[in-house]
Amino acid sequence: MSLAKKLKNAPVDVLLLDRHNYHTFQPLLYQVAIGSIEADSIGFPIRRIFTRQDNFSFNMADVQQINTGTNTVTTNIGDIHYDYLVIATGSNTNFFGNEQIAHFSMPMKNIPEALNIRSLIIQNLETALVTRDMKEKFALMTFVVVGGGPTGVELAGALAEMRHLVLMKDYHGLSKYDMRVHLVEGKTKLLASFSAGASEKAEQFLTDAGVNILKGVHVESYDGFELKIDNGKIFKTRNVLWAAGVKGEIPEGMPADSITKGNRIYTDTINQVKGYENIFAIGDVAATITDETPNGYPGVAPVAIQQGEWLAKNIVRLVKGEATEPFKYTDKGSLATIGRNKAVADIGRLHFQGFFAWLLWGVVHIMSLAGFTNKGIIFLSWAMNYFTKNSDNRLVVRHFNTETRLTEVDCK
Ligand SMILES: Cc1cc2nc3c(=O)[nH]c(=O)nc-3n(C[C@H](O)[C@H](O)[C@H](O)COP(=O)(O)OP(=O)(O)OC[C@H]3O[C@@H](n4cnc5c(N)ncnc54)[C@H](O)[C@@H]3O)c2cc1C
Repeated sequence: MSLAKKLKNAPVDVLLLDRHNYHTFQPLLYQVAIGSIEADSIGFPIRRIFTRQDNFSFNMADVQQINTGTNTVTTNIGDIHYDYLVIATGSNTNFFGNEQIAHFSMPMKNIPEALNIRSLIIQNLETALVTRDMKEKFALMTFVVVGGGPTGVELAGALAEMRHLVLMKDYHGLSKYDMRVHLVEGKTKLLASFSAGASEKAEQFLTDAGVNILKGVHVESYDGFELKIDNGKIFKTRNVLWAAGVKGEIPEGMPADSITKGNRIYTDTINQVKGYENIFAIGDVAATITDETPNGYPGVAPVAIQQGEWLAKNIVRLVKGEATEPFKYTDKGSLATIGRNKAVADIGRLHFQGFFAWLLWGVVHIMSLAGFTNKGIIFLSWAMNYFTKNSDNRLVVRHFNTETRLTEVDCK
């Protein structure tokens, strides 16, 4: 979207293809999953963003194949020709090849998946309230978040807050002492990409909130009831939320030698794909490998946005026959929140934690949302949640079937 916007007055026609007709603001998915905010407020219709851009068009289409030989993409609405192709298909959840974990755990990469988690949490608490089987009751009330990056930390913090503030208000028959939140991280520290201070403070915030943290261990298996960890520990749980990593989401057709670590497309410093003059990759799906960035840039929104804007300028240069300029990333810092009044911030050389980090986190996220209405809705939801210590979005509008792992919509 940032690339398409930047091409507004350029002498090109822009066609954006996406399987969804909306943009998702992924940083707040965890709040949808926990029922703090409504799902629609983190999505925004793509067409609406570009109403005033004459050289832009959009099709809701799933790209199934890239045909580099004919300069076409095969989609569910037919084949489409391109002069220049920009692959910005993002990433998807990485289960590291474990199909059993992929089947039984809950990923959170898009709005439908966040809504699945919301349904699962509420359904399981409803069942815990009525079951007479104590083993089952504790499994229904045990939550294991796998992955101690920003997503896992924020999710675990939100669950701990729900346990503390909401559980006993909404479910009079359930005790917060029976609800457990565990956070499992493979590395020896949480928030590995943050400063040591931020990482330690996040751990302290979570521990104070009652989250049991396991570091330097890996999940071996999960069969829908027992989660086994490689230190021998077994958790009996019906709720495994998977935030342990992502891998590039690449449509078929790109040659194997253009794909690198993390299933990302290997690009040069102008995001051009090796071996192709008219194919580019940006954002989470791209890996610009240089001496300075041996693992590519991090999979975060500022990289994707900046690469989109930069590539737009380079495409105009290419169209005009001018020399291109290598991409330069400006790292504006990192933020993560761990519940009410608590967050950690690394902004350049500034590292701070607590209330001001939390305020900054709130402002940055509101400002980054697409659409004035969404900004207003989120602000009001947060204000209401803050003062009432509860929220109104804990609805099961689509039942999550724990056997089939599919959503069921009952129109009765
Ligand atoms: C839970 C979560 C929390 C996050 N929190 C933060 C945060 O706090 N800060 C931060 O900076 N970053 C965060 N990120 C990462 C950030 O969201 C991504 O880095 C960013 O969205 C990448 O942008 P992108 O354009 O590369 O991909 P995306 O935003 O994922 O967009 C890819 C688009 O491609 C479409 N698509 C994919 N395949 C196809 C296909 N075959 N055909 C048609 N369309 C297709 C998808 O529908 C999607 O709309 C978070 C991510 C997640 C999942």
